[in-house]
Amino acid sequence: MTELGPSTRSIHAGLPEPAQGEPLLPGPVLAAPYHLRGAKDSAPYGYGRDENPTWTRLESAIGSLDGGEAVVFSSGMAAVSAVVLPRLRPGDVLVAPRDAYPGIRKLADDLAERGVEVRFVKTRTEEIVEAAAGASLVWVESPSNPSLDVADVDAIAEVCGRDGALFAVDNTVATPLGQRPLDHGADFAMVSGTKSLTGHADLLLGAVSVRDAALAAELRAWRSRTGSILGPFEAWLAHRSLATLGLRLDRSQANARAVADALSARDDVTGVRWPGVGAVLAMVLSSTEHAQAFLDACQLVSEATSFGGVHSTAERRARWGTDDVPEGFVRFSAGCEDTADLVADVVAALDSVRPAGSA
Ligand code: PLP
Repeated sequence: MTELGPSTRSIHAGLPEPAQGEPLLPGPVLAAPYHLRGAKDSAPYGYGRDENPTWTRLESAIGSLDGGEAVVFSSGMAAVSAVVLPRLRPGDVLVAPRDAYPGIRKLADDLAERGVEVRFVKTRTEEIVEAAAGASLVWVESPSNPSLDVADVDAIAEVCGRDGALFAVDNTVATPLGQRPLDHGADFAMVSGTKSLTGHADLLLGAVSVRDAALAAELRAWRSRTGSILGPFEAWLAHRSLATLGLRLDRSQANARAVADALSARDDVTGVRWPGVGAVLAMVLSSTEHAQAFLDACQLVSEATSFGGVHSTAERRARWGTDDVPEGFVRFSAGCEDTADLVADVVAALDSVRPAGSA
């Protein structure tokens, strides 16, 4: 069969073989222990911290989109932790972004206190490649959140492969439909499924996909040991939501492009960036007050953190004090509203708060 399209793949991902009288997507299996007589591996499921059939289906779905074997976790940060924490010892070198999601930075700071050498780099290919010499693990977020910088995954994978470093890509912004890091040589493709992957702002989820069976086994063992497990209901909701990933991304990317175009045409907005993939764009307004007034004036865009949902959201990132961005920097997540409505709302909000003196 020829390569299937993105919506086809996301709709069919991880569904069981058709069985007469059975649902297309079985419901969540809510179980702590399972019947297990005799030897511990005499049944596929024994205890809910180790395995669960609803995870198995979701993992098969995410793995098929990523081109690897997926392991799901209770949140994006639980997935990051599962890659980073078990493999770094004092003296090991971690390369981590200084300009991306602050969670990885905080984790790297903790590791530095325990003797891991952390090299913080900007999301720039040359800087990452230079820092990778002698590293145990290179962590890259591309496109990065919130600055939306893009790194060359092939080039970094080549250097990591040559120097023996493991290479992880946080693929949250692009999602496995926008980019498949494993195809470009990464060892780990991580995603916060809290965002675009599931897209309804109603659950937290993390996933890591790998091609190496030993790495997959390590991730599963870490999950069991630490209990960083996804609830079966969230796993089922996530699988249900995955079916619309292609549709949602099509619309939100079209909306992101249209909003970016409308913003670029204005003289009261600077720093407009959209990386050409994913729902997130960035813009800079003249001050805290200007940005806040814009957020207050939007009717269809909710002021909220996170991104990737069907509802458009935006926030002034500097309010958290964690990102090196201007006070008026707004991260905007384009949802799935009708494009004309969303652009009209953003334009009307900006018009209504235009600072005196700008044309
Ligand atoms: N990676 C990126 C790029 C993120 O934006 C986030 C959350 O904002 C995370 C990881 C962490 O994900 P979670 O909030 O699901 O733990």
